[in-house]
Amino acid sequence: MNTAEVILVPVLSDNYAYILHKGDQVAVIDPGQPEPLIYELDNRDLTPSVILNTHHHSDHIAGNKALLDKYGARLVAPESERARIPGINKAVKDGTIIEFADETIEVIDTPGHTSGHICYHLPQSKILFAGDLIFAMGCGRAFEGTAEELYASIEKIKALPAETEIYCGHEYTLSNAEFCLTVEPDNDELIARHKEVKQYRDNNLPTIPTTLEKEMQTNVFLRAKSAEEFADIRQKKDNF
Ligand SMILES: [Zn+2]
Repeated sequence: MNTAEVILVPVLSDNYAYILHKGDQVAVIDPGQPEPLIYELDNRDLTPSVILNTHHHSDHIAGNKALLDKYGARLVAPESERARIPGINKAVKDGTIIEFADETIEVIDTPGHTSGHICYHLPQSKILFAGDLIFAMGCGRAFEGTAEELYASIEKIKALPAETEIYCGHEYTLSNAEFCLTVEPDNDELIARHKEVKQYRDNNLPTIPTTLEKEMQTNVFLRAKSAEEFADIRQKKDNF
């Protein structure tokens, strides 16, 4: 079975937006800045029909209007952040299914970073757009929710297949790895991955996507065994 293609597009200082492409269908995820996306789309002769937002922060939505105006695309965003995201055509929530080429994109509610944060999951292609919920070896801050809510959201993602590729909103991987090493200094997989991502970043290469399997081995937030342990690690990271 064919899988969808994902094109990673660096925007702003450390954000990633994505172009999702399959057959004649094109989507853009979290356009924090329009120009780099328009450049990539036009270069590849791709016309997006839909823009997907994971949450309302401006570094994920600031490019919406320019892309909607230029390509006549539809904007899909979380129902509960409707008031904070202008121009929504289709508001979605947990369980909403979006048809995309010959497969589906499923919405998973993942509150905590923002109150209405969602992830987009393609079960057939085994792809997850995680926004600011999970980063490589990290997770988003609990800006509008409690650490417990964030933990519960991450638990939902941990139930997906281990080979799921995770595309997140930021390149924070190297500093996240350094933090994880303070929590689990003897984790051999983490030690090896830290070295690997350092090489990638020294060569200015992206460390994304990651996989759920890699995160289960090295991400101390996903390895926390209880909401209390998670909250404790989240607090340490806030002060790291
Ligand atoms: Zn955010």
